[in-house]
Amino acid sequence: MTAAAARAIAPEAALTADERTRILAKSALFDPPTLQLADGRRDLVGLSRDELIAEMAAINEAPFRARQLWHWIYHQGATDFAAMSTIARPTQAKLAERFVVGRPEAAVVQTSTDDTRKFLFRFRDGQEAETVYIPDPVEDRGAVCLSSQVGCTLSCRFCHTGTQRLTRNLGAAEIVGQFMAARDSYGEWPSPKGETPRLLSTVVLMGMGEPLYNYANVAKAMTIVMDNEGIGLSRRRITLSTSGVVPMMDRAGAELGVNLAVSLHAVRDDLRDELVPLNRKYPIAELIAACRRYPGASNARRITFEYVMLKGVNDSVAEARELVRLIAGIPAKVNLIPFNPWPGSAYETSTASAIARFAAVVMDAGFSSPVRTPRGRDILAACGQLRTVGKQAAAG
Ligand code: SAH
Ligand code: SF4
Repeated sequence: MTAAAARAIAPEAALTADERTRILAKSALFDPPTLQLADGRRDLVGLSRDELIAEMAAINEAPFRARQLWHWIYHQGATDFAAMSTIARPTQAKLAERFVVGRPEAAVVQTSTDDTRKFLFRFRDGQEAETVYIPDPVEDRGAVCLSSQVGCTLSCRFCHTGTQRLTRNLGAAEIVGQFMAARDSYGEWPSPKGETPRLLSTVVLMGMGEPLYNYANVAKAMTIVMDNEGIGLSRRRITLSTSGVVPMMDRAGAELGVNLAVSLHAVRDDLRDELVPLNRKYPIAELIAACRRYPGASNARRITFEYVMLKGVNDSVAEARELVRLIAGIPAKVNLIPFNPWPGSAYETSTASAIARFAAVVMDAGFSSPVRTPRGRDILAACGQLRTVGKQAAAG
C-alpha cells in the first residue's frame, strides 16, 4: 500500500505532528514585518487580548486598560486615542506616544457597476494585497473577501494569483486590517450588535493566497474578528477556502470552527494533479476524508465545494456524476464558478448549457449547486483575477 493510501484509510493517525511542523516552519520563512513603525511606535491592531494586556503591563497600565482599548479599536473602530473618551486625557497622550491604531493604506479603490468594491491595500513595507467587498444584490448585507498572502506558493493553472510567486504572508494585523479598512469605507462603525443585518456581514477567506499555508496569522486574525466585545462576527459568518491542505483542515476545524470551502475543481487525481498541483501531495481521497471528518458540518452548516467550470476540461456530465458519488453523504453544497479569464490564461469558460447540465446532475443528487455569478468583472474583482490590473500597471 502506498503511504497516501494508508493515510486515506487511517487519516487522523498518520497525518499530524510532522507535517504540521513542516508547514508551520515553512510559513515562518515568509513572516510579515514587525508591528513597529519607523518612529518606534507600535501598532496595537492584530495583537491578541493577552498581548494587548502585556503591552499595557509594560507601561504600568492595568488589564482593564487593554479591555477599554479593545472596545475602542474593535467595537467603535476608533483610530485616534484622543477620541477614546472613557480614557483620561493624560493616558490618551501616553498611549499616543507609544502606540498607533493602524490601517493598511487604500492605494486604489474601485467600485464596479454592480457595486462590488475592490481595494488594493498597501502595507507598511510597500507590499500590496487586494480585498473585495461583494454586496448582496437584494439585501443590506455582503461578503468581505480577504487576502491571506501576497502571492501564493501553489500554482493552480487557472488562477492568476498562482502565477505570482509568494512574496510573503500577511500578518494578523494586515488580515484584520483589511476588514477594518473596508468597514471604514462604508462607515459601518461601531460594530453592529447581535443579528442585525449589516453591510459587511460575512468574511470569506478567498482572496489572494492559501489561508492554511499562513495558518497562525489567519487564526489570530479570525479570533479577533470573532471576539464578542469587538467586531463580533460569529464563526458561522466566516468561510475559509482552501485548495486542500489536509493536515491544517483538521486543525482549523478544531480550533476555529469556521465554515469550510474546498476548491475541488476536478474529480480524478490525474486532472486535479494538473489543475491544483497540491493534489499530488494530498490527493482527492485524502481531501474528501478530511471533509468527512470536518467538525460541525451539518445540513445547517454545509461544506462548500468550489468547482471552477473550464470548457471541455472538467465540465462533462460524467464528471458531474462522479462528483456526486465522491461527496455522497457529506452535508455539502457545490458552488459552480464560471472560469474568470485573465490576460494570458489558458482556459475558456464553460458554456451556459454545459454549466446547466452539470448543475442539474448535482441538484438531482440532492445538493444545492448555485452557479456563482461573476461579480465586479469590469474591475477585475472576480475570483482568481485579483491584482491583475496592478501587475499590468507595474509591468507597464
Ligand atoms: N487559495 C484558496 C483561496 C483563494 S482562491 C483556494 O484556492 O481555495 C478562491 C477561489 O477562487 C478558489 O476556489 C479558486 O480555485 C477560485 N479561482 C481561482 N482562479 C479562478 C478563476 N480564474 N476563475 C474562477 N475561479 C477561480
Ligand atoms: Fe493559490 Fe488558491 Fe490560486 Fe491555487 S487557487 S494558486 S491555492 S490562491
